[in-house]
Amino acid sequence: MKYDFPVTKTTNPKAKPDPDTLRFGVDFTDHMFIMDYEEGKGWHDGRIVPYAPLSLDPAAVVFHYAQEMFEGLKAYKTKEGKVQLFRPDMNAKRTNRTNDRLCIPQIDETLYVEAIKALVHVDADWIPEKEGTSLYIRPFIIADEPFLGVRRSNHYKFIIILSPVGPYYVGGLTPTKIYVEDKYVRATDGGTGEAKCGGNYAASLKAQEEAHAKGYEQILWLDGVERKYVEEIGTSNAFFVIDNEVITAPLDGTILPGITRDSVIALLKKEGIQITERRLSIDEVAQAYKDGKFQEMFASGTAAVISPVGELCYKGEKMIINNGQIGAIAQKLYDTLYGIQTGAVVDTMGWTVEVK
Ligand SMILES: *Cc1c(COP(=O)(O)O)cnc(C)c1O
Repeated sequence: MKYDFPVTKTTNPKAKPDPDTLRFGVDFTDHMFIMDYEEGKGWHDGRIVPYAPLSLDPAAVVFHYAQEMFEGLKAYKTKEGKVQLFRPDMNAKRTNRTNDRLCIPQIDETLYVEAIKALVHVDADWIPEKEGTSLYIRPFIIADEPFLGVRRSNHYKFIIILSPVGPYYVGGLTPTKIYVEDKYVRATDGGTGEAKCGGNYAASLKAQEEAHAKGYEQILWLDGVERKYVEEIGTSNAFFVIDNEVITAPLDGTILPGITRDSVIALLKKEGIQITERRLSIDEVAQAYKDGKFQEMFASGTAAVISPVGELCYKGEKMIINNGQIGAIAQKLYDTLYGIQTGAVVDTMGWTVEVK
């Protein structure tokens, strides 16, 4: 395939990191994609250039009012050597929904996916091949007009960078310990909870640090109005299995519409497992635990795919889920999803997109 973007190759290729010690988001490839937006002119000059620091005016809107958004997806190399992406059209659609909420101009979704493919194609030899590794793709948009008034920026940059990453879990899926956050909130109705933007993350750091200090890896967010209904786990979507029903919060404005979440729901429906998108109170979860009906809990997201939860702590009460072991539903979902992403399981859903 021939892409339309001009490519300036680096004259100074970097050494590739050791595939055995890859971490998340610390190494970056040799190239990046950049495209500019100017009011009246639209998005223009999409190009692939050597990976390098940006030069921005200190007055750029993004530094002051956080007008920015980001996405995340992965490229895998299959055993046969094919390079494939997982549902990149969904990232393009979600980008435009986030953009709408943050007054960032819309991007042509075909062009968006082509830009990802073109860059992955240029840096394809950076995709690690060891079991569990992948190439993480980070598209993002920043408002870079130098202006201190509060209004939408008239200039933006759309950038894509790539990072070879290691397995999220070393030595198999390990259940995590989760703290139910009842002081801070992530999102509330009418806010930016369903937008993938940096501001949401800046606002979540304090809760995460406090949970870490108590010995928990992540937090379970409750709704912002009553601190009653379960919403998300850190930066991933939350699933509960109670009395053989799989339950996840509905997309009512405060939940990030995860692509992994959507895929999990589709796979469960296909398997004939009962999956319900509904409000679930933390009291209902605690009651189910007392009744011996709280069977499984897991998080879904691009980074870990499926992350089982082994312990949930709410107001000092600890719930040990499935004896702290990964449950059968979480394991099956992980095997299927990860299998489809890496080409080990036949993709009957039409989710994978080849880069060639
Ligand atoms: C990105 C993200 C998710 C997961 O979305 P995926 O598309 O599955 O990676 C969930 N919650 C939040 C807050 C996120 O930012």
